[in-house]
Amino acid sequence: MGEKEEAQSNKRWPAGTTEAECERLVERALLRDPTVKFMVDKLEEAGCSTGRNFFRIEKCSVQVGGGFRPPDGVVICHNHLSSQEEVSHALTHELIHAYDHCRSRDLDWTNCEHHACSEVRSASLSGDCHYKLELARGNWRFKGQHQRCVRRRAELSVAMNPHCSLTAKAAVDSAFERCFADTAPFDRIPP
Ligand SMILES: [Zn+2]
Repeated sequence: MGEKEEAQSNKRWPAGTTEAECERLVERALLRDPTVKFMVDKLEEAGCSTGRNFFRIEKCSVQVGGGFRPPDGVVICHNHLSSQEEVSHALTHELIHAYDHCRSRDLDWTNCEHHACSEVRSASLSGDCHYKLELARGNWRFKGQHQRCVRRRAELSVAMNPHCSLTAKAAVDSAFERCFADTAPFDRIPP
């Protein structure tokens, strides 16, 4: 699902790169990034193989780095991502949504609690809330920062769902405990 980026003091947004360069960064992540490769393998094991056509590079008009568009696949926005790290990170986030879509055949993306559950997992497991990114966003408190960040970012993403613009916070609150604890296919929250 679409990921809204937050304002970051150290980053001009949007930056972006060309479609061809972004294509190269995606290829490279699929070949070399251990977390991206792990997620692709887990999708395969769960019965949802990806293939190269699963990943599309597009120019996106809304302020997002990428999105998951079921059942087609993952969209990466070349005009909003500029580095290998950003592309690999966006791929990881969207692949967690793809994994949720694959393993729960009754997942309904118009159901705000379903969507919130997947956003909580993606925000927690993809590195969206890594302390270095949080520091760059100006969020300095350490105790409980990971959970606070996960809630905040999940709410931002759920609020972009036209079905959930008014109920995002309630949906995240109600899904949080159960979905934060569910770290599949990882053993635990990656460091
Ligand atoms: Zn998401």
